[in-house]
Amino acid sequence: MTELMDEAEMRQYNEQARRSGMLTIKVPPHYQRLVGEEIETLGRRGGPLYRVAYPTTERMDLRAGHEVPDFVEDRTNMPAGLESVLIHKYRNRALFLVTDVCAGHCMYCFRQDVLTDLQGSELPALEKRLDRVIGYLRGNPQVTEVILSGGDPLSVPFGHLKQVMGRLSAETAVGDIRMHTRNVAFAPQVLSERVCELLGRHRVRVYLHLVHPYEIAEPVIEGVRRLISHGVRLYGQFPILRGINDRCEVLERMIRTMDDLGVNPINLFVPDPINHSAPFRIPMRRLLSLMDNLYWTTPSWSNAVCLVLDTPIGKVRREDITGWDGESGIITFRRQEKTVTYHDFPKALDVPGDLETLLWKG
Ligand code: SF4
Repeated sequence: MTELMDEAEMRQYNEQARRSGMLTIKVPPHYQRLVGEEIETLGRRGGPLYRVAYPTTERMDLRAGHEVPDFVEDRTNMPAGLESVLIHKYRNRALFLVTDVCAGHCMYCFRQDVLTDLQGSELPALEKRLDRVIGYLRGNPQVTEVILSGGDPLSVPFGHLKQVMGRLSAETAVGDIRMHTRNVAFAPQVLSERVCELLGRHRVRVYLHLVHPYEIAEPVIEGVRRLISHGVRLYGQFPILRGINDRCEVLERMIRTMDDLGVNPINLFVPDPINHSAPFRIPMRRLLSLMDNLYWTTPSWSNAVCLVLDTPIGKVRREDITGWDGESGIITFRRQEKTVTYHDFPKALDVPGDLETLLWKG
C-alpha cells in the first residue's frame, strides 16, 4: 500500500486512539504533500515524516514497562483556578497553554495526556483565561518570562494573539515572551507578514519545533526569513525520535540546516516515557553515544547543543545522573537537592532507524 491511509483505516485508528486517550490523526495539506513525496520515493509507508504524522502498526502494539500518562506531571504545577491554563514550575518562568489546538497532530506528542483532556472539555473563552493569567502574574511579579504554548499558540486567531501579547507587555512584569510552535512545520502559512511583525514588535523569542530536515521545506524557509526580517530571534529544539531522526547524520543535517537559516539550536530532548511512546524511544546509552558522535563530528559552533530530559523536577542532563542500575534500567538524576528516577528504554526493543530511509532524498 503506498497511499497515505484510507478512510476506513483512519476511522479505526481514531476510534482506538480516543478510547486510549491518544491524539487522533490530523495532517494538514502541506504535510500530506511532504509525506506523499516520501511514500512515492520509498515506495512504501513508514518513512520518517510518515512516522511523525501517521500511526505504524507498532503504535498501539509496542509497549515498554513503566510508561505513565504524564511523566513531567504538568498538572501538579498548575496553580489553583488556572488548571489547564498555566503551568508554573520554575520561579521566574510560567507556561501559558493558550489553546488546545494544533495545525496537525504528532504521533510522538509528549503532551498527549493534557491535550486530549483539554480537547475533551470546553475551554473558557481566551479572554476569560487571559484575565485569570494576568491576575496571577500581577500577584506573582517574580515571573518575568512567559512561554506561550499549547496546543500551538499560532493556532489562535490574529486578534487574540495581539491581545495576549499586548496585555502581557502592558499589564504584567513579564519582560520576556517566548513562543513554542510546531505549526510552522505543518502549516507554514501561519507565518504571515502581520504575525511576524507582531512577534518582532513584542521582541518574542520563537522556538521552532522541527524534527526532521525535510520538514524545513521552501515555505518554511520563507516564513523563517520573514520572521528574521522583523527582528525575531529564533531557536530550535526537538526530541531525538526512533525511526525519525535517530542517526548522527540526520541530527547533524538538522543542526546545520537550522544554523544556515539563522535558527539557534539549543536542546535535543529524550522522549518522555509516556503511554504508547515505545515506538519513538531510544535507550539512554545510545542517546548519549549519538550526542558524543555529534560532538566529535560537528564543528565547534554546534557543540553547545545539549541532551535534556524534562522531568517533574525540571530539565536534567547527563551530568545530573547520580545512579544507573543496569539490571533494572533505573537511572537517577539529581537537580537542586531533588531526585527523580527514569526507567530506561529496553535495548531489546531498540531498532535504530535505517539511514537510507531516514535520509531518503540522499
Ligand atoms: S504540535 Fe506540539 S502539542 Fe501539538 S501534537 Fe504536535 S507535539 Fe503535541
